[in-house]
Amino acid sequence: MIKKALVFIMDGLGDRPIKEFGNKTPLESASTPNFDEIVKESQCGLMYTLGRGKRPGSDTAHLSIFGYPVDEYYTGRGPIEAAGVGIELQKGDVAFRGNFGTVDSEWKVIDRRAGRIKDVTVFAQALDGMEIDGIKFIVKPGSAYRAGVVMRGEGLSSMVTDADSHNAGDVIHKVVPKDNTKEAKFTADVLNKFMEKSYSILNNLDENKKRRENGELEANFLLLRGAGIYPSLPKFTEKWGFNKACCIAGGGLYKGVGAFLGMDLINVPGANAQVDTNIEGKFKAAIEALKEYDFVFLHIKPTDSLAEDGNFVGKKEFIEKIDKYVSILKEVDDETLIVITADHSTACELKAHSADPVPILFHCKGIRNDNLSKFGERELSKGSLGIIEGKDVMPNILNIMGKLPLIGA
Ligand code: ZN
Repeated sequence: MIKKALVFIMDGLGDRPIKEFGNKTPLESASTPNFDEIVKESQCGLMYTLGRGKRPGSDTAHLSIFGYPVDEYYTGRGPIEAAGVGIELQKGDVAFRGNFGTVDSEWKVIDRRAGRIKDVTVFAQALDGMEIDGIKFIVKPGSAYRAGVVMRGEGLSSMVTDADSHNAGDVIHKVVPKDNTKEAKFTADVLNKFMEKSYSILNNLDENKKRRENGELEANFLLLRGAGIYPSLPKFTEKWGFNKACCIAGGGLYKGVGAFLGMDLINVPGANAQVDTNIEGKFKAAIEALKEYDFVFLHIKPTDSLAEDGNFVGKKEFIEKIDKYVSILKEVDDETLIVITADHSTACELKAHSADPVPILFHCKGIRNDNLSKFGERELSKGSLGIIEGKDVMPNILNIMGKLPLIGA
């Protein structure tokens, strides 16, 4: 009887054939003996996370895999990022992704990341708790130059433009409403006051004076984008009938997905979103977590970032590095289902996400295995799952666990 599930997502794992690899994808050309052994004992297929012909973002793809329809629950990246930095969101909150950047006195952006500043805790603290026209701003530091920002109060809307020029050299314009509602107009007004006030506070901060003296770029502006209103949503465990769910991820967005769905976040030393992330530590943490949790979401990021750089050799090598440690996952007991997949393809050729379907496998004791031989897009396409969609993943997990409700008599 399967009682627990581990869903392991490698970001942007799928890809297209590469000429230099003899028309194999990075995954197909990688030497993956440990994955191949898992494949042999798995039920396999391909998956369109958002459906055929839809090019997924990482956030929307994850929501879809975890059974939260994007149309219903996705209002922007802001709420997910804010959840990821530890802000407990409430219904009606409007959340943003924030960057501490450097602007001149005309608000022309000099650097969107304040010289890739490593820690913005002091700057976030200086703005956290500010109140304007009855609206409270919650500002929490994320990794490096990033921050999560929430506006809390009555009458807010996420239909506002970004407080961000998006390009260095461009001037940040006033926020304007994107629709005719009084809520959007009010939100834009409050945000414009916030920009003025926060610029003035940051500019006069001792920490920035020090940075100026040291010849470093100041963190004197909080750029805001990706406004989203927090929807009321059921906790993952309640929605799918698990006791306890956790998330093991290095990247802020993925921790955010976990926190957004009410999963516990497990921190692993050395786990980040970079190629030097602690893969071994993450796999060991997943095995350990399965003693306490009956659902574990495990995420590894760099397969995506390497492909976005067009670095197909790097992507292949990184997959081989994951393979070295993936045998740790075989230590799971007979009551655990392992699902291995990706959130979307990232094509090295395009240096971008693509709508090509991703490989997916379900591995556990007693599964109808397809006896395939190699972990790869085209090999897994021969599997008995055929082509599924992201929304099929959770029902498929529940079926394997014997938890699906009966339709009819
Ligand atoms: Zn992704």
